[in-house]
Amino acid sequence: MSDTPATDIPATDMGLVVVGAAGRMGQTLIRAIHTIPGARVIGAVERADSPHLGKDAGELAGTGRIGVPISADPLPVFARADGVLDFTTPASTVEFAGYAAQARIVHVIGTTGCSAEDNARIEAAARHATIVKSGNMSLGVNLLAVLVEQAARALDADDFDIEILEMHHKHKVDAPSGTALLLGEAAAAGRGIALAGNDVRVRDGHTGVRKVGSIGFASLRGGSVVGDHSVIVAGTGERITLSHHAEDRAIFARGAVKAALWARGRKPGLYSMRDVLGLS
Ligand code: NAP
Repeated sequence: MSDTPATDIPATDMGLVVVGAAGRMGQTLIRAIHTIPGARVIGAVERADSPHLGKDAGELAGTGRIGVPISADPLPVFARADGVLDFTTPASTVEFAGYAAQARIVHVIGTTGCSAEDNARIEAAARHATIVKSGNMSLGVNLLAVLVEQAARALDADDFDIEILEMHHKHKVDAPSGTALLLGEAAAAGRGIALAGNDVRVRDGHTGVRKVGSIGFASLRGGSVVGDHSVIVAGTGERITLSHHAEDRAIFARGAVKAALWARGRKPGLYSMRDVLGLS
């Protein structure tokens, strides 16, 4: 239970559960919620074998004690929450989407690397949960996606090739990044094609010449890079590069909290960050 006297907490505040609360994004989310009016942490969840169980989620994240112990049991905390912020793993996210649907609450999903099957299960959960899912929760990247779509529409596939380059820290486990795929989807939408079947995710050996209209990806990993993305539109004799550099995970966390507040009271469904930011 919270240490804060109940009278100090506005009844209208959105009560949020952070799953994966001890992770890089989990801790960043707890710090972000602390600074955003209208939201508060009411639960924090980690795996049953986590060394952080029982610790105060605020103390772990560096905000000071908030009276929310990290627990391994999502169901009771989901039952009294208005929303869940989830930056974990695809398998966990699919499970949490089912619980969010049962509780009929908001589920903000930042987890990347979901398979088509995972996404189908998340879509099924969105019949009862209000889900906002995005490979990148920042304003800058979602605006970049709009610009990429415009560039891809304006610059013909016969004359301009689209390549997406991303770099992330050495702990990242999926590639290409969720953001690179989001930007690839935007480029494909601009070209009026599906990304699936037109994407080239790896090049190695004798690849042959570039297929006209394909969208290429390259992934770099190293150090502590939060997230760098460039979409290169390469023509003959000229090249346009649209880039975003994330310097601080707080941009994703603030976006996720904004998404939760936006989704509160909306009907169940699967929404994107572009919907939240009014960029759709
Ligand atoms: P991380 O540091 O590994 O954090 C993930 C946390 O979730 C870990 O503490 C992990 O515990 C925990 N977890 C996993 N399954 C769980 C479960 N079933 N129950 C409770 N806790 C569970 O990773 P990260 O860097 O924060 O990134 C997390 C995800 O967010 C990745 O998919 C990443 O690509 C994505 N991401 C998205 C955005 C965006 O804007 N959309 C931005 C940044 C990152 P264990 O260590 O015990 O497994």
